[in-house]
Amino acid sequence: MSDKIYVGVDVGGTAIKVGICNADGDLLHTFEGPTETSKGTDTILQNIAKYAQQIVEESSYEWEQVDGVGVGIAGFLDIPNGIIKFAPNLKIENVNLKAYLEQVLGKRVLVNNDANVAALGEAWAGAGKGIPNCVCYTLGTGVGGGIIIHGKIYEGYAGMAGELGHIAIVPDLEAIQCGCGKMGCLETVSSATGIIRMAKDAVERGDRTSLSLVPNIMAKDVLDAAKAGDEVASRIVNRAAFYLGKSMATLSVVLNPECYIIGGGVAKAGEFLFAQIREVFEKYTQDQAKENVKILPATLGNNAGVVGAAGLLLRS
Ligand code: ZN
Repeated sequence: MSDKIYVGVDVGGTAIKVGICNADGDLLHTFEGPTETSKGTDTILQNIAKYAQQIVEESSYEWEQVDGVGVGIAGFLDIPNGIIKFAPNLKIENVNLKAYLEQVLGKRVLVNNDANVAALGEAWAGAGKGIPNCVCYTLGTGVGGGIIIHGKIYEGYAGMAGELGHIAIVPDLEAIQCGCGKMGCLETVSSATGIIRMAKDAVERGDRTSLSLVPNIMAKDVLDAAKAGDEVASRIVNRAAFYLGKSMATLSVVLNPECYIIGGGVAKAGEFLFAQIREVFEKYTQDQAKENVKILPATLGNNAGVVGAAGLLLRS
């Protein structure tokens, strides 16, 4: 076995996931270990290096086959130099992760932010396989995003391209402040957090809804209630879908991608949600910009991060 392999690392606050991929993006082997964030920066860095070595050791592959190691991490990064400027959830500040790992592992290392990496995973080996231009949304606690142009991550001038959750799209009159400090960002209405907030507001206002009987409302409760015909829940889901679809209509005349991929917990609502997004997209998008454009559910789930991190080595 002399084929090259690519190691992808997805660094989260609780766990570090590692995967081995081949050149086609097939995930051959996975490994997961604790991040040990509370033990500080040195331990986190050592764990990343240790797990990257460990996964190859316990697999049927040889270290010599490793063409490089890609890392996805949440935070503010200097992407070309692989420097973590600030990673709030890991409490890491000003660390050159690329230089550290290249020295310890003796392999080429590439670092990028977690949302870009997950988008690359889906575009390379998931729902967007074979499609060169895709825009990916992840609907979770926030709205993450990534833009893939000609098969590669588009980072923009300051690494801020693809921050789709912070597209200012909700009109001022109904906008609320986002976690980023600005008003009317997409994630204030289309993330799980946004959906929960709108539901709680409705219950507090005394709107007639089955959600008033739910003790601790989760986004799934709202989506399920909407599917079951609850009018208040339907309005909330419709609003989340409306701004998503409208943001895609905007992106279509900026980037004109062939495909939008939507993943994350909220996307599990499936066709019920996707149909509403497509309807808005159809309504607001120029004919030529929407022709044959697909809006697809993500397929890699929690593995998008490790696959995309491995993909950095082939797609950078
Ligand atoms: Zn924002």
